[in-house]
Amino acid sequence: MATEEEVEIVKPRTDKREYRRIVLKNSLEVLLISDPDTDKSAASMDVGVGYFSDPVGLEGVAHFLEHMLFYASEKYPLEGSYKKYIAENGGRCNAYTTSEHTNYHFDINSDCFEEALDRFAQFFLEPLLLADSTMREIKAVDSENQKNLLSDVWRIHQLQKHLSDEEHPYHKFSTGNVESLDVQPKAKGLDTRHELIKFYEANYSANLMYLVIYAKESLDAIQSLVVDKFQEIRSNNRDYISFPGQPCTSEHLQILVRAVPIELGHKLRLVWPITPSILHYKEGPGTYLGHLIGHEGEGSLFYVLKSLGWATSLYAHEEDWNREFSFFKVTIDLTDDGQEHMQDIVGLLFKYIHLLQESGVCKWIFDEIVGICETKFHYQDKISPFYYAIKIASNMQLYSPKDWLVQSSMPSKFNPSIIQSVMDQLSPKNVRIFWESKKFEGQTDLVEPWYKTAYSVENTNDSMIQEWISSAPNENLHLPVPNVFIPTELSLKNTQEKVKFPVLVRKSSYASLWYKPDTLFSTPKAYVKIDFNCPYAKSSPETEVLTIIFARLLKDYLNEHAYHARVAGLYYHINMANSGFQVTVNGYNHKLKTLLETVIGKIAKFYVNPNRFAVIKEKLRKEYENCKFQQPNEQATFYCSLVLCDQKWPWMEKLELLPNLEAEDLTKFTPVMLSRAFLECYISGNIECSEAESIIQYVEDVFFKGPNPICQPLFPSQHLTNRVVKLERDMSYVYPIQGLNPSNENSALVHYIQVHQDEFMLNVKLQLFTLIAKQAAFHQLRTVEQLGYITYLTRRNDYGIHGVQFVVQSTVKDPGYIDLRVETFLKLFENKIYEMTDEEFKSNVKALIDMKLEKHKNLWEESGFYWHEIVIGTFKFDRKECEVAALEELTKQEFIDFFNEYIRIGAPQKRTLSIRVYGSLHSLEYMSDKSEEAKPNKVQIDDIFSFRRSQPLYSSFKGCAGRTKL
Ligand SMILES: [Zn+2]
Repeated sequence: MATEEEVEIVKPRTDKREYRRIVLKNSLEVLLISDPDTDKSAASMDVGVGYFSDPVGLEGVAHFLEHMLFYASEKYPLEGSYKKYIAENGGRCNAYTTSEHTNYHFDINSDCFEEALDRFAQFFLEPLLLADSTMREIKAVDSENQKNLLSDVWRIHQLQKHLSDEEHPYHKFSTGNVESLDVQPKAKGLDTRHELIKFYEANYSANLMYLVIYAKESLDAIQSLVVDKFQEIRSNNRDYISFPGQPCTSEHLQILVRAVPIELGHKLRLVWPITPSILHYKEGPGTYLGHLIGHEGEGSLFYVLKSLGWATSLYAHEEDWNREFSFFKVTIDLTDDGQEHMQDIVGLLFKYIHLLQESGVCKWIFDEIVGICETKFHYQDKISPFYYAIKIASNMQLYSPKDWLVQSSMPSKFNPSIIQSVMDQLSPKNVRIFWESKKFEGQTDLVEPWYKTAYSVENTNDSMIQEWISSAPNENLHLPVPNVFIPTELSLKNTQEKVKFPVLVRKSSYASLWYKPDTLFSTPKAYVKIDFNCPYAKSSPETEVLTIIFARLLKDYLNEHAYHARVAGLYYHINMANSGFQVTVNGYNHKLKTLLETVIGKIAKFYVNPNRFAVIKEKLRKEYENCKFQQPNEQATFYCSLVLCDQKWPWMEKLELLPNLEAEDLTKFTPVMLSRAFLECYISGNIECSEAESIIQYVEDVFFKGPNPICQPLFPSQHLTNRVVKLERDMSYVYPIQGLNPSNENSALVHYIQVHQDEFMLNVKLQLFTLIAKQAAFHQLRTVEQLGYITYLTRRNDYGIHGVQFVVQSTVKDPGYIDLRVETFLKLFENKIYEMTDEEFKSNVKALIDMKLEKHKNLWEESGFYWHEIVIGTFKFDRKECEVAALEELTKQEFIDFFNEYIRIGAPQKRTLSIRVYGSLHSLEYMSDKSEEAKPNKVQIDDIFSFRRSQPLYSSFKGCAGRTKL
């Protein structure tokens, strides 16, 4: 039984899906979405309880419950079987805990949805919360927290919470650790599992739950499925828990907090408590203020801070909010010079706010925002059902059903007094200033208890800030000009030809153009990619750094103008690429050409502004220095690429040479870099072929034509390649190294198995292995052996060279030991492969086929897929179809043979590379690993570069003639 109340849910004009709201007899509210075109189905359950409800002394229990619920239920008691079922059928699952919500979600190949949903529903019906998983999962939560301890994002957020009213739940620590979930409760004589069950029973009530179901079937069919599976969830009819009161009382306002971050770089955050915009979401006060204070066009605060050389980024928006309280936050990344001008920057920010207050709320700006938001909503791209379901479910409780899809994204009522009153709250009397810099090291007197962040607090007052305002420089701050990039022409082009794959429509010694009209999405959007293949750009670490600065300077110059395009839904990127640099423009096609021509013009007339060069150089230096603070698993992955990819330059060398680079080096370098070029181009979407051709013709003319052309075509000998090291078979290579950050206790292992060069049949065998082994590896290494929170098995593709890698980050065991556990896992797994029934094999093959047949959901995704084929040089646009055909032929015996040939311990074709990054807890193990004696089939890598030079390379796909015939 369910009531189906007639509510019209506002949906995008272009949206063909059907929606229905139902309320089950236990008061569970459900949104059903029927999409006959979907290949994946998804569900997201939002439970209205989060860490705000954690009992004092049991911090993290809501989050811990989120972990425990996954494991087993009365109906499906086998531990981890939910995850296994999802993973083996092309899906993924996860969950997260916030202040007042816990959200569980998954997606899966559509024909497996019913069983997955049945398993999912059991979390809320009869979970087992097994006693023997309790301690293990507390350790997983602790490992998750260990990872967060060294993250500035987590540290500073907790500091903001710490400096609030202790009586308000905002003050709490959300994640939990061994201390809060085991040690403290034990000391008080509490049993954590007992408390966990108590928490579950008190809070997991159907009337506090919201569910989104996204499926292929009709609404009626989905409805009966949902009623059947979810109506028995218990409801104790408890009220929605609300937390009245403000987290910040007067003593937490007017403060200036200095904090020491882990990473280099200085940040300034200004935070004001404001009236939550959710209470006026049709009037959109937060959107209006965020739009203006975060604006980057000429006359904006960021524009001024940038021209003074003080800031490299600025964000302004509402964050950390519910219906009772909210914060408006402005975050500014400071340069070294900006760090010396904190008071001026704060002064300028208040000047800008003052300007907004004096200008009054502008109707034309509000109307512009409304126009942009409406277009964005009505022409939104389809996203994966997984994220779509989460996005809706996580906010259902806040909005009336009519607005479940719109949420706060479309303000419509112009009410200046509401905006004005929130604007007035952004005053010096309410402000909290958080200022982070390593320069404060040794000057602080306090320590935040959970993350141990060092900080100090000083009080500010109105007159102090008034002084900063009056002494701040007199800059020409003003409101933005009207946005010329707002699309007004949104009709669809009539592309007659139903082309399935990209077609090479143009090829010269200057450029090649691949073109693919939109045949699937029917949106007024297009995608343009131009890859400048410049052989001089990446010939050394030095030229690579210069190319990076070149690309960043371009973006820097374009920003004040092109920022408007971004606001209007037209995006551009210029970035260093493996071949040189790339220009990407995507979004509404109406004004795309104008933007692209501006970008091309800037490249053609490139010059070096020494002040901006200095700012970018400083920022780049900090980024390289901060590589030391990367998580050990990221470090290990980086070393792995460095071993495998020829011509990859390490950041350490780039950091070393950077101080010696000056603006004039770039001035000299740029014409040389551009002097030889080949443009690889791809254009797709709502654009006609002739228009695509004329765009590229224009670009060719700019660079290659005229009396003194900027570029010359490449010499035949100069076409670029991507080469990958070919490891020797029957060999294992080990690279042991210490972690770069001595205060990080985590160690990490990447255990890589190199298999083959791109070839359909081998590809699908490897994919099948990964599909089957993925969950088994997670279960064994993380759940059973508890090696660490970050534990996964994934495929690896370096320019068409395929393999798999196990990645484990751990504080409990050293990487040498974990390497042995990976091998033991492979031994265990061998038996599983032999025991696999024909039926299981067939079902795995089918799951993989279904995953391959999944259609692209939007232009961005489709273009990414084809572009990858072009840029790597494989050009296998029909890859999915060919791999499906290969899978249909594959027999179980062939798959077993593959495993025995390439993966099994001792396999004749086995090639492994283990990167072992030792954290500070495992320095003894590092010493003994390093001094281990040589074995016949094992090579220890001491120096990555001499090793790389000594190895043979695979042939390159890129740059090989004959593959791209017109
Ligand atoms: Zn977690």
